[in-house]
Amino acid sequence: MFVDSHIHLQDYRTQDVKNVVTNAAQNGVTHFINPSAHPHDWTAVVELMQTYPQVTPAFGVHPWHTVDAPQDWAKILEQYLQQYPTAWVGECGIDKLKNPNTELQVAILRKHIALAQKYNRPLIIHAVKADNEMAALFSELPTRTIFHSFTGSAQWGGQIQKHGFYLGLNFSILRKKNAAEILRALNLSQILLETDGPYQNLERGIETLPQNLPLLAQKIAELLQLPFAEFTQIINNNQRTFMEE
Ligand SMILES: [Zn+2]
Repeated sequence: MFVDSHIHLQDYRTQDVKNVVTNAAQNGVTHFINPSAHPHDWTAVVELMQTYPQVTPAFGVHPWHTVDAPQDWAKILEQYLQQYPTAWVGECGIDKLKNPNTELQVAILRKHIALAQKYNRPLIIHAVKADNEMAALFSELPTRTIFHSFTGSAQWGGQIQKHGFYLGLNFSILRKKNAAEILRALNLSQILLETDGPYQNLERGIETLPQNLPLLAQKIAELLQLPFAEFTQIINNNQRTFMEE
């Protein structure tokens, strides 16, 4: 049984979500953590949660959208967290590759962190080229924090894990030349799998599907030189620990 720990079901353009969810279930992917990116897609995520019991929603302002977030986004987010007690916070974070305004991103991220702490919800972080800024916030992050779509160095991954946080791995880690070396250096008890569907496509222009998650697990297990069953057992334990803490 797999949890796709990061998927944007609201963003599929070429697929019917009902089929996406059904095909995923047939491949053992039975639960989804579904982050949002902007108050504009929060209602779509609520609808998904109400349609599919296997969807856990997350509400947040993606670092790419910090500039056009409405003034009162944090107030709306707090209302969502009060109204939906199973909701997580995210995705949020710092992306210095796409958004040069670091100060605003840090300020917005810290509001997410405070709300995640206040309501005891897991936090989903998107961090790109922001190791120093993120390290400065380690002491503020909730224990249940995922650094999603991790593609950093083994050293950076180790630092994140040493603080008790989890790394979300998707197909993008496999594109790194030294993927095997990075994966072998990580603490396997603090990783989760995700597709980041419909993004992080396996083939250019094709939307990534959660039914591909077992394939991702297989490829990572190969690089780790672990039997598939042993690796999926580890992932199952991690999913349970992270979600039940
Ligand atoms: Zn995402």
